[in-house]
Amino acid sequence: MPETEEFPLIHDPRESLEKHFGFREFLSGQEPIVSAILAGKDTLAIMPTGGGKSLCFQLPAMVMDGLTIVVSPLIALMKDQVDSLVKKGVPATALNSTLSPSEQSARLDDIREGKFKLVYVAPERFRSNAFLSALSKVDIALFAVDEAHCLSQWGHDFRPDYLKLSEAVEKLGFPQTAAFTATATPIVRDDILKTLCLRDPYVAVSGFERPNLALTVKQCDSHRDKYDRIEAIVKEHKTGIIYCATRKKVEEVSDSLALMGFKTIAYHGGLDDKSRESAQNVFINRKADVAVATNAFGMGIDRSDVRFVIHFDVPGSIEAYYQEVGRAGRDGTDAVGQMLVGPGDLARRRSLIESDSVIEGPGSSEAARHKWSLFLELMRFAEGGSCRHDAILRYFGDDAETLAGCGRCDVCSVIGAGESMANAESAEEVSLLVRKSLSGVARIHGRYGLSAAVALLRGIE
Ligand code: ADP
Ligand code: ZN
Repeated sequence: MPETEEFPLIHDPRESLEKHFGFREFLSGQEPIVSAILAGKDTLAIMPTGGGKSLCFQLPAMVMDGLTIVVSPLIALMKDQVDSLVKKGVPATALNSTLSPSEQSARLDDIREGKFKLVYVAPERFRSNAFLSALSKVDIALFAVDEAHCLSQWGHDFRPDYLKLSEAVEKLGFPQTAAFTATATPIVRDDILKTLCLRDPYVAVSGFERPNLALTVKQCDSHRDKYDRIEAIVKEHKTGIIYCATRKKVEEVSDSLALMGFKTIAYHGGLDDKSRESAQNVFINRKADVAVATNAFGMGIDRSDVRFVIHFDVPGSIEAYYQEVGRAGRDGTDAVGQMLVGPGDLARRRSLIESDSVIEGPGSSEAARHKWSLFLELMRFAEGGSCRHDAILRYFGDDAETLAGCGRCDVCSVIGAGESMANAESAEEVSLLVRKSLSGVARIHGRYGLSAAVALLRGIE
């Protein structure tokens, strides 16, 4: 492992890309982020999972003088990154609760002596005075916050200790800060900018384009229709994931596919840890080709040959939709994403949001409203007459160009005759339904609140 002194300042990021990481080219979007950080700018980088975020702080950490602190939510994530850095000869370490007190204090000594370029910590670590005092003895090059959406109460992975990072940056004297996340809703973005006090930040959104995915939204008249669709897709594309909104639906769909002779697993939050893990392993080890699941299924799924993702029920937001459909075609070869829109989808989502707000108790009506607005955005997307890929990129704020007539979505082309919602005869009906519900909600929402909006939608259905 090289000594710290052996890390000369290399100002050409490409040179250090090759030298420290063994890569010849940056992935799409990495270079501007690295350059901004090297130029001393606070940065917010939004890239989808797998886009290569970690290199965007690891490379500057190698080049800049001083210590880079990396805040990471999970010990397993820290361990992966630290192990691979150490393998490359980079002086990196993690400080976390898996270390004994004496190991921790030895590591703090090493930090004080400047032995590391990167130290990974969970946000809770900033409660420790010993840690803060060790940091006060070193130059901090960069404060990097990974999975920064965890600090927003509107994100799905809210961690109160992430919110307290605002105190940490203050205690550290407002070092140069870079935040990374795959979540891009404007409200979450604003929370990150405010909480971390990013000054005149460089905000980069990139890498959301998935050219190998063919995206279709399909209007179905009935449940039967949805079952016929999934049967056809499973037969044609073999390997994939079917997302359903509820546990009950997961069981139903999985049972009917099993009756048709397909090998499936069912996965949802109602299963105990052991059954969940074993279901996941069956799928990952290719002993079953179809996973039928709620949105609990996803984190940490590493199967690159997923050829289709079907949304049997309309998902809760564009974010959820794109994250889930993005699990298809990870190997870069063609894959399909098909969202099935049918009667009852609005009502189902309504009752899910209502039951969530019952569970979350008083004061959750604001959260329920927020969920509604995300859902309505999704419905607008489903109804929308513009290219699916283009609509997604605009939604996330990625300014990559899409070609008119992309040929990879149901709006730009007929993917399989008669399958496209945009071209289906019933498109007009759907459009009417969505438009009625959206305008109705908009009209009464402000005045009468959620329950009136919900009653309106109930009436429509
Ligand atoms: P994220 O944190 O955005 O999900 P990672 O940082 O884990 O993604 O990177 C995803 C994968 O891409 C990793 O295997 C990483 O080694 C690889 N990678 C990152 N940058 C490059 C590059 N410039 N060239 C080739 N592979 C890269
Ligand atoms: Zn298109």
